[in-house]
Amino acid sequence: MAKQDPIFELIDAEKKRQSEGLELIPSENYVSANVLKAMGSILTNKYSEGYPGKRYYGGQENIDPIETLAIERAKELFHADHANVQPHSGANANEAVYFSWCEPGDTILAMSLPAGGHLTHGSPVTRSAKIYNFVGYGVTKEGDIDYDEMERLAKEHHPKIILVGFSAFMKIPDFDRVQKIADEVSREAGHEILLMADMAHVAGLIAGGVHPNPLEHGFQVMTTTTHKTLRGPRGGLIVSMGKVSSPLRKPEHTLENIPTLIDRAVFPGTQGGPLEHIIAAKAVAFEEDLQPEFADYARSVVENAQVLATELQRLGFKLQGGGTENHLILIDVKDSYGIDGKFYEIALDRVGLTLNANALPSDKGGAFRPSGVRLGTPAMTTRDLGAEEMLKLAGWMKQVLDICVAAGDEDGLGGHVAELDAIRAEVRELALNFPVPGIEK
Ligand SMILES: *Cc1c(COP(=O)(O)O)cnc(C)c1O
Repeated sequence: MAKQDPIFELIDAEKKRQSEGLELIPSENYVSANVLKAMGSILTNKYSEGYPGKRYYGGQENIDPIETLAIERAKELFHADHANVQPHSGANANEAVYFSWCEPGDTILAMSLPAGGHLTHGSPVTRSAKIYNFVGYGVTKEGDIDYDEMERLAKEHHPKIILVGFSAFMKIPDFDRVQKIADEVSREAGHEILLMADMAHVAGLIAGGVHPNPLEHGFQVMTTTTHKTLRGPRGGLIVSMGKVSSPLRKPEHTLENIPTLIDRAVFPGTQGGPLEHIIAAKAVAFEEDLQPEFADYARSVVENAQVLATELQRLGFKLQGGGTENHLILIDVKDSYGIDGKFYEIALDRVGLTLNANALPSDKGGAFRPSGVRLGTPAMTTRDLGAEEMLKLAGWMKQVLDICVAAGDEDGLGGHVAELDAIRAEVRELALNFPVPGIEK
């Protein structure tokens, strides 16, 4: 009967779209069949407010060991003292950390959105920005964090949190340098400064050993999504260093107690019942992430990004930061070819290459017509695409770009249907040779 519901036809259509196109959006990935199985399980039927061993409802004899496994695996993955696996998303994870450590009006120093930070790091349209006072640091001309500006702003504003995290930043952060700044400023300010890393994008690279772990460089807290490079279900995670005690009693407000303060901030502070089917799927993904094959995957993600970045530059594309040290690439299409990012995004979608228009630091195009596009290699690498395919992809991107230049605007693409269709067919043929995990052929 369920088959009659058009929802299921749409899911089938989406399977086809995912199979026949190439996913270049750097925040997307493909989960395994086992992750899908856990997500689609009857665990969704269960209420389990609280934490393992400390629940507000009965019947937790299977739920508790599931959540405990997820916690233990997350701790092992990031060498952390504590893990909270309940945040429903990356945004919720960040909100809970702010709430665990700050009072309304307190200052949080974070990378500004145009520099590559995330909306949840203080964009005025968010709830957090109405509650806390966000101060933003930027990036240098070379695309690295402007540590001098971070230090100057920290001394001026005495923040409660210094946050390092990003959605469009291609360098490896110098966590030790940030720790030094925090040490110095916290003595001056007379309060402890929480060092928080939002590694939503690179958590999989950290787990795979190809990116430094902020928790091993003096940071107390790391938040992440579980669905980007970690290749798990859509969700959030907070790992932290410190003393773990029962969330039923409020501990003293010290950095050492941050794990317990975070548990209380997630539930009951900002969320209700946890999604135990998603937590089970997180546990399955973490176990996959602990395998040696996952380290190979993480290495290939970075290698593919470097091959793709080098080839794009050879073809004349200008890259923000001059290339990449992680899985992210940000192209300044406006400066390279006079085309805006949205137009290029639409044209690429037409041939089955999906990415997103993205603002560049100091962009004049605004949020709807930004000058850049952002792309990345995590999803393609999961499908086993390698260096050879990266070169092909860069070639298609250049062909589509030339069509955009000739067309002038979106309407002008109508005069190039045959050329676009020809590229679409080549993309589809390649994509079908690299099946999506979890989708039967
Ligand atoms: C994706 C992302 C988030 C938000 O994750 P959601 O699960 O979409 O809420 C937060 N921070 C950073 C740095 C991100 O890249």
